[in-house]
Amino acid sequence: MQGWSYVYTGANEPFEAREFPVPEVEADGILVRVTVSSICGSDLHGWHGDTPRKPVTIMGHEMTGRVERLGGNVKVDAAGQPLAEGDRIVYSYFYPCHHCQPCLANDGLHCDSRRIGAGRSTSDKPPHFTGAYAEYFYLRPGHFVLRTPDDLSDRVVAPLNCALAQVIYGLEQVSLTAGETVVIQGAGGLGLYAAAVAREAGAANIVVLDKREDRLALAKRFGADHVLNVDDFETPEERISAVADLTGGGGHVVAELVGHPSALIEGLKMSRNEGRYLVIGNISGKHTIPFNPAWLVHQNRRMVGVGGYQAWALRRGLELLARNRERYPFEDVLSELYPIAEINTAFAEADKGSAIRTGMICDPDLAVL
Ligand SMILES: [Zn+2]
Ligand SMILES: [Zn+2]
Repeated sequence: MQGWSYVYTGANEPFEAREFPVPEVEADGILVRVTVSSICGSDLHGWHGDTPRKPVTIMGHEMTGRVERLGGNVKVDAAGQPLAEGDRIVYSYFYPCHHCQPCLANDGLHCDSRRIGAGRSTSDKPPHFTGAYAEYFYLRPGHFVLRTPDDLSDRVVAPLNCALAQVIYGLEQVSLTAGETVVIQGAGGLGLYAAAVAREAGAANIVVLDKREDRLALAKRFGADHVLNVDDFETPEERISAVADLTGGGGHVVAELVGHPSALIEGLKMSRNEGRYLVIGNISGKHTIPFNPAWLVHQNRRMVGVGGYQAWALRRGLELLARNRERYPFEDVLSELYPIAEINTAFAEADKGSAIRTGMICDPDLAVL
């Protein structure tokens, strides 16, 4: 049996339709029928060749789907709920081997042998279906999978396994505590999630910066107390001073969710003495900036980089969505949805940055939108 996909063929080249054999499901594996996938900033970097991708690769790692075929040993999900073919599921895109040094240290994210970020390995070898822009996705043994609650749509859960889980894990890495002030640079999908996560963690004061008014308006609905349009200021110093005024001296936590190094120095300086600066958005190997370590030293600031997440963040994210689905407009994060056959339009539009986050419907019959 063959399944369809859209493959990366080279930097900035159009994605091409390609068929591959559907893999046999191992006893501990799951074959997923992808229903909705989305375009993460890292997929755009990958497509542009900023981060290495080899042709021919099925790209994409943010997605959700249904169990198409369940391996014989898989009876329950990671929360202990029974799992059956046809169930809607969410899953992490990396597979710890449980045998290497990082796995021994409970660090499945950095597993030596199985750290297969979806959409990174070429798709010409079995199990072929290793990315989101396809009919199927193969969950190898070692996966983490959770059943999706009935009242959460695929549109809401598709960005969970990267964007939301990443933000939850990141804010934990900088020990965000109730009563603290939080400054968020960028009100795209990650910035909006960060506002809601910070709100639910008990942040006292949340300031969000972006250059687009529609995103800033949405940030308020996601829990921001104050929003600032970066274009309303002449200089970075004015922005830093506005943030200091709003937060009583700067954020205890500042989160960079912009994706360009030009935001870095400004963001660091928006943190107060002993503040923590969380850097998530800057993943390109190509862009660098001059940096003065004294910016860290004199104020006893800490700077923490986070790429990826440990799998516990997936469950926490799903629970956050389920508990707060009435409270925050999570269905507005995937603001544009294209049929997967229009993947080239979807990427071109996502690249312009006009949508909050761009999604694609892989199976219009099985997707719950
Ligand atoms: Zn391992
Ligand atoms: Zn991602």
